[in-house]
Amino acid sequence: MRWSQLFIPTLRDDPADAEAVSHKLLVRAGFVRQLMAGVYSLLPLGFRVCQKIEKITREEMNRIGAQEFLLPSIHPADLWQRSGRWEAMGEEMFRLTDRKGADIGLGMTCEEVFASLAAELRSYKQLPQIWYQIQKKYRDEPRPKSGVLRVREFTMKDSYSLDIAPEGLDAAFQRHFEAYRRIFSRCGLETLAVEASSGAMGGSESVEFMIASNAGEDWVVSCAACGYAANVQKARSQVVPVENRPGLDAPEAFATPGVHTIEQLAAFEGGAPAEHQIKTLVVVLDGEVALVLVRGDHSLSEQKLQDATGAAEVRHASDKEIQDSLGASAGSLGAAGVTGRRILADLALRGRSGMLTGANRDGFHLRGVDVERDIPNPEWLDLREAQAGDACPLCDAPIEVHKTIEVGHIFKLGTRYSEMLGALVQDESGKSRPIIMGSYGIGIERTMAAVVERRHDEAGMIWPVSVAPFEVVITVVKPKDAAASDAGGALYDALLAEGIEVRLDDRDERPGVKFNDADLIGIPYRITVGPKGLAEGMVEIVERRGRKSRNVAVEKAAATITEAILEERAFSPGI
Ligand code: ATP
Ligand code: MG
Repeated sequence: MRWSQLFIPTLRDDPADAEAVSHKLLVRAGFVRQLMAGVYSLLPLGFRVCQKIEKITREEMNRIGAQEFLLPSIHPADLWQRSGRWEAMGEEMFRLTDRKGADIGLGMTCEEVFASLAAELRSYKQLPQIWYQIQKKYRDEPRPKSGVLRVREFTMKDSYSLDIAPEGLDAAFQRHFEAYRRIFSRCGLETLAVEASSGAMGGSESVEFMIASNAGEDWVVSCAACGYAANVQKARSQVVPVENRPGLDAPEAFATPGVHTIEQLAAFEGGAPAEHQIKTLVVVLDGEVALVLVRGDHSLSEQKLQDATGAAEVRHASDKEIQDSLGASAGSLGAAGVTGRRILADLALRGRSGMLTGANRDGFHLRGVDVERDIPNPEWLDLREAQAGDACPLCDAPIEVHKTIEVGHIFKLGTRYSEMLGALVQDESGKSRPIIMGSYGIGIERTMAAVVERRHDEAGMIWPVSVAPFEVVITVVKPKDAAASDAGGALYDALLAEGIEVRLDDRDERPGVKFNDADLIGIPYRITVGPKGLAEGMVEIVERRGRKSRNVAVEKAAATITEAILEERAFSPGI
């Protein structure tokens, strides 16, 4: 098509509220438009990119033997009640009521519907199966953010594996792992596969596919020496040992007026550095008030706390709950001598003495606390968030902590959904057994945004051919010049005939404007056709990546570009 006929509403300025590069560029280059918070329209360019990501995803899913479905987006409440998630999904689920008063939820994931279909399977002989779809998902995210990176309506490839034995699940998981590596690599993304928390919904193994980027919302721990990589919600690490300060025979209270924080106590005369303090947090685990202890310079990982306790609901206690249970307010809390309450202590506090903590009396702290002597029977758990400077849990080398975007997630579910939704088959001995499920997801628009985060420069996006909205633009420098216009048109026809996705920029604009648009949109190849070059029988080919430019004879241009594009299209890493 000719550019003058296309809808490509490029903007000169970044959207005012945008921070993430992908947010700025996708809006400015006319790929997406926000309709309301966290809800975006895909304009033709954005839609083309997403269709290409979907095509790659389909090819790789079909390659592992998966069968494509398309399920509804509106789900009956009853199905989600049977799995227990009608309640559990809380405010994240969009809900509506039909004219008869029946409750309906908008699909945020599809385990329930697929498990209900799996209930039609009868025998282990019909397994294994991998079922998938590419379909809209709805989540009323508390904080939609960063353009299409975190939205409330998005397209997800979700798949589900069905097996009779755990080994089958392992194999389906492994196949997905490899398919995901190929999908992202074909989209031009280098992924880090990290161990992740299996969360509250049961399941054993969980791996997330991450893209290093400051626009992400996930922190990942990784070890360059041995390759260990885990989401910080799950990551283990070793703390560098701290030498205990001299102890006392018993804890001793001392006045600490105005001291409410770890930092203030560290700076207070008679205080001590954070690694010699115990941080006491009061939490409510499924309605029960409990104390959580971590070292002063450490942070509690709420996900680890949830995973370790199995609590469905974890929240911080209110000021009143804190007063009622400990008789003091936040800033002076401690666990020494506390009885009748569940106390959960992080392993880094084991063997520590000469510690400082709150005295459960406003304005007072204790010193000389020996954790194991003075705190009655804590449950010892790994509760702290790994931090830079800690050592790798596997090889002792220092770990790094960095920000990432989660583009994919593979997850061993187990039998929770098949049991609740009656997806049972007969095994070899005729016994009825629940199907073992795995669940696997990829966010399509988020993947598009991740490519932009990784591949751009100050002038705009830099698409790899595999997912570019189109492959070549022919920029006619002076469309009113008949020779330039004719040569551009001829080249355009020649490339179309080769099956190349080409657009002809025939707009009556200054060359700079057209070049800037082509750069902003990130079209992999530009052919500039202008009267000056043509006088010498030449056109210019510019590669967007690296901005490499060369002049080629007009009659060779179509063949040169076609060759380059076909080579890049064939690029299927990992296969
Ligand atoms: P996050 O931790 O980012 O909220 P999630 O763990 O809720 O993600 P899954 O339920 O595993 O995500 O969904 C599978 C995939 O769907 C994710 O890996 C991501 O690519 C995509 N995805 C999830 N939530 C969103 C969202 N709000 N906006 C865009 N894509 C999303
Ligand atoms: Mg989420």
